[in-house]
Amino acid sequence: MNIALLLDRAAAHSPQRTAVYLGAEPLYSYRQLRERVAALASGLTDLGCRAGDRVGIVMGNRPEYLEVLFASWWAGLVVVPVNAKLHPGEAAWILQDCEARLVVTDQSHLAGLRAVMAADLAGTTLLVAGSAQYAAMTAVPGPVRPCLKARVSDLAWLFYTSGTTGRPKGVMLAHRQLLAMTLSYHAQIDAVGSEDRTLYAAPMSHGAGIYSPVFMLNGSGHVFPASGRFDAAEVCDIAQVLGNVSLFAAPTIVNRLAAHISASRAGLKGTNAFRAIVYGGGPMYVDDLIRAREAMGDRLVQIYGQGESPMTITTLGREVIANDADPRWMARIASVGTAFAACDLAVVDPSGAPMAPGLAGEIVVRGDTVMMGYWRNPQATAATIRDGWLWTGDVGSLDDDGYLTLKDRSKDVIISGGTNIYPREVEEVLLRHGAVREVSVIGRADSQWGESVVACVVVDDASVGAPELDAFCRANMTGFKRPKTYHFLKGLPKNNNGKVLKSDLRATYASRSPEPAVAFEPPLKREDRA
Ligand code: AMP
Repeated sequence: MNIALLLDRAAAHSPQRTAVYLGAEPLYSYRQLRERVAALASGLTDLGCRAGDRVGIVMGNRPEYLEVLFASWWAGLVVVPVNAKLHPGEAAWILQDCEARLVVTDQSHLAGLRAVMAADLAGTTLLVAGSAQYAAMTAVPGPVRPCLKARVSDLAWLFYTSGTTGRPKGVMLAHRQLLAMTLSYHAQIDAVGSEDRTLYAAPMSHGAGIYSPVFMLNGSGHVFPASGRFDAAEVCDIAQVLGNVSLFAAPTIVNRLAAHISASRAGLKGTNAFRAIVYGGGPMYVDDLIRAREAMGDRLVQIYGQGESPMTITTLGREVIANDADPRWMARIASVGTAFAACDLAVVDPSGAPMAPGLAGEIVVRGDTVMMGYWRNPQATAATIRDGWLWTGDVGSLDDDGYLTLKDRSKDVIISGGTNIYPREVEEVLLRHGAVREVSVIGRADSQWGESVVACVVVDDASVGAPELDAFCRANMTGFKRPKTYHFLKGLPKNNNGKVLKSDLRATYASRSPEPAVAFEPPLKREDRA
């Protein structure tokens, strides 16, 4: 089963339906999209690409992105979408590692790529979206070339991890993983159909692009904001014109959308402009979720996944977020929900034995969404997939009803005086202080405690300093979890997907040893650690 068949079938059923919008304007029908994709698939073959070859994609969100994804699969090729914000040298490393036969890019990335390609990627062909060559390749000369037959186990997408520890690794996703993810969305989030649209607000190299087959299955529309980036006003304008828009975004983007809606779009909440705002990829703090719900209504759906089990490990549905009469509501909305039906899920100790409900351990997953392994890296694969279980590197706990609460990445956990401190708990508390706009908590080596807690904060009111935040923490959390040092930043470093780069914060603030901004506590008493 080739995932590109979803496009083929949608075009057969509903050739006239709009497949692609630029802004709120229809650009191509499903018939046109299929013809362009099939023509491009032939063009890629003419450029020397053969089944199984890798096609790197280094460009911003634009209609050609969708065409290149589906044309590559149509021709039996493997896509390697590269984070478009990476330095050209980092992109070149990925393109070399996967031995890309061809790289598709756009004007804004062309010069940077040319520079590295001359040096490192001499054998790779470059195709520029929007060029005369691209236009010729998508022109439709004759009958539509059929979609190549593929096995579900054939490689479809090489997803390079963000590489915060060492070099990025290529997660191997076959058609099977994309199909399982697509069906999971339809079964448990929304069975999106012909009256639905997805809007590509987040980078297509990540979740938004991985979701594209979800919106092919029943011939939904694929909307590209004309600006090519996330702009809350533009997204709302388009959604108000088209209606039934679903989108995937990182929590930071959802927060911006919510802030825009509550500041300027009082009437939007009650309309059908948005169907689902799916968020994930990083923590959504409870206060932010409550604010977002106030602004947008019950359209928010959380997913927890990772490249290694794309977009599909657990989900927290609208009905749970809506049920604020439930006495367990606060705990529910602080969780990442329950396992997708396609996933076997457990929380285990280092030996793989299940933890009792409520106790934290590493999250492991099994099922058809789990990657085939890391590209040409059997050691990393063996360390990550054991007995068929994917060890996610995330720490969490399950409750009696199967709700999973994520603590942190295991490498982000701070161990102070032999006790685990989960940065997210500290972040949740600090975010309740009215002046704190953003916060990220990291650990710093400490001769007395092993590690101590450091808070990197962005405040709206410059008069709020460490003493005030410390007093707030004293009033709201166990003493030993309190940050011992505060750094006040203008903004937190984030990657292209809106994820806070804790590795950058650690590099800057965890090795430095400034005077603690707040005096250390006297040695902890045992009961303080309960
Ligand atoms: P990536 O492979 O880049 O998509 O990153 C996946 C990681 O992001 C996961 O292993 C989690 O640590 C984090 N993550 C994903 N979804 C969520 C979520 N809903 N809440 C908190 N963290 C998340």
